[in-house]
Amino acid sequence: MTLSHEQVRTLLVSLRFTRDRELTCDEWLEDLSTYLEATPTEKLGETFQLVREHLDLCSDCREEIAMMVMALCLSSE
Ligand SMILES: [Zn+2]
Repeated sequence: MTLSHEQVRTLLVSLRFTRDRELTCDEWLEDLSTYLEATPTEKLGETFQLVREHLDLCSDCREEIAMMVMALCLSSE
């Protein structure tokens, strides 16, 4: 099966917009505490896919989590 350029374009656009849910930063922060308490296996599961995706997409939250991790490291010393 070969796709025309037009079909490929339509496919790519629909992939980008069919995601039914994306986390806002506030929602992400709420899920984050659950995420941090999850086991490593759970962390990689589908449940937290949105949490991981948001971290990929949002540099604000990446900085946020870096600071939290740093604070945790400092407080455990
Ligand atoms: Zn964010």
